[in-house]
Amino acid sequence: MSDLKYCQGTKCHLYKTQDRIKGTKGNKTYQTRRRSSFYYGGNNFCSLNCQNDWFNDFGDKAIDHFGRTTEVKHLTEENAWVKDYDWRSNVDESHRYYFLNGITKERRPLTEEQYNDHNYTLNTS
Ligand SMILES: [Zn+2]
Repeated sequence: MSDLKYCQGTKCHLYKTQDRIKGTKGNKTYQTRRRSSFYYGGNNFCSLNCQNDWFNDFGDKAIDHFGRTTEVKHLTEENAWVKDYDWRSNVDESHRYYFLNGITKERRPLTEEQYNDHNYTLNTS
């Protein structure tokens, strides 16, 4: 079975492109795009326009719902670790993946498994 989903853009059906025209002869309409995957907005929008339309309509409410930033945030040594990897083919496999601290520039080796584990971090805040 196909696993198609609709673009979440609030105005997707208003953009008059050939691929949006659907329906039988004499009963054609522009319709919301339907795909197995989308490139934008975490696989929810067919285009940047549709993503922006959604944000213009709902962004404020979404930010209020999930928590608006109301005070300054700080990047410190304790939360400056980012994962990175060396793409060069001559790099020793055991040194391919690493944590890099954006403040101190310290490097710490990572296994590929740790690199791919999105919950694995050295950051403490
Ligand atoms: Zn769309």
